[in-house]
Amino acid sequence: MDFDRAASGQSAPIIDPFGRSITYLRVSVTDRCDFRCVYCMAEDMTFLPKKEVLTLEELDRLCSAFVYKGVRKLRLTGGEPLVRRNIMSLFQALSRHVESGALEELTLTTNGSQLQKYAKDLYACGVRRINVSIDTLDADKFKEITRRGDLATVLRGLDAAQDAGLKVKVNAVALKGVNDMELDDMIWWTHGRGMDFTLIETMPLGDIDEDRTDQYLPLSLVRKNLSERWTLEDIPYRTGGPARYMEVKETGGKIGFITPMTHNFCESCNRVRVTCTGMLYMCLGQDDSADLRAALRASEGNEQLYAAIDEAIARKPKGHDFVIDRKTQKPAVSRHMSVTGG
Ligand code: SAM
Ligand code: SF4
Repeated sequence: MDFDRAASGQSAPIIDPFGRSITYLRVSVTDRCDFRCVYCMAEDMTFLPKKEVLTLEELDRLCSAFVYKGVRKLRLTGGEPLVRRNIMSLFQALSRHVESGALEELTLTTNGSQLQKYAKDLYACGVRRINVSIDTLDADKFKEITRRGDLATVLRGLDAAQDAGLKVKVNAVALKGVNDMELDDMIWWTHGRGMDFTLIETMPLGDIDEDRTDQYLPLSLVRKNLSERWTLEDIPYRTGGPARYMEVKETGGKIGFITPMTHNFCESCNRVRVTCTGMLYMCLGQDDSADLRAALRASEGNEQLYAAIDEAIARKPKGHDFVIDRKTQKPAVSRHMSVTGG
């Protein structure tokens, strides 16, 4: 679609100190979730008091401010975005930016548990592609990893999403000794259903109950192992995220690798993240943040909010330095992925 930025009132994207245009915003709309994935949350998570969390109206104002500031791709995440009460009213409100052409993409990352209920509504709000996280196709293992998820429900959600016309990408966290032996099956299954498949390395975010060095599986190893059985060809395909894609010749489908630990993808980072309390993080792997909730609540006009966004992005760091190591045993960053949004 041809889009006339000036006519829509959208300003040019903000450029950070390293020359990167900030065009991609990920927003965590809730820290709550109906699952408790072992690499993401502790079994007995304490969630934030509701009053600290931005209201849906505040989230709309915040996202719209970023769209005004040149953001072209918006991903809602969490926690589980679809368990937030009345979440469809936020999608509905944000769909005006898709209609105007200001947003190229409105999308979400979900665990799939609520897709049966919401797939059609999401499509109606202008959502066209979604990421669904599924680490295993074994129902018992699925229960173990998510601690309370039901694979059959998620698979029905996936059917509903594809029936509604949503393009689905499946994300799986690579876990040593848990799903590494299943990856061939998952490639056949995803590609057979016309879905791309992306593997993610575990990142040391937030205290969990387990030892991360036991779960950590470098994707460089996975790739080496897969290439003994599959013909993998590097392709330039990008979705605006950090994944590097390869085509699997045997299936014609794509497999993506997100490797924050073994490969530094910061040089092309075009994104920032906002938590459900309105903290803006310029980098997933660094602690520096800006309090946009204060700016939002300080006045009804957006001037303070715009100024806070500009000022924060002017501090966006060059990159992160994640380490998982047996000596420190501490996460590099103390907040959980469910707080910052995956
Ligand atoms: N609940 C939704 C879901 O699971 O898709 C959205 C939020 S979740 C935090 C987003 C993504 O982050 C999921 O694909 C999840 O597997 C991934 N994730 C969570 N904790 C992680 C960690 N410590 N390392 C790497 N990926 C993680
Ligand atoms: Fe919930 Fe997603 Fe975290 Fe799993 S990864 S506990 S589904 S937020």
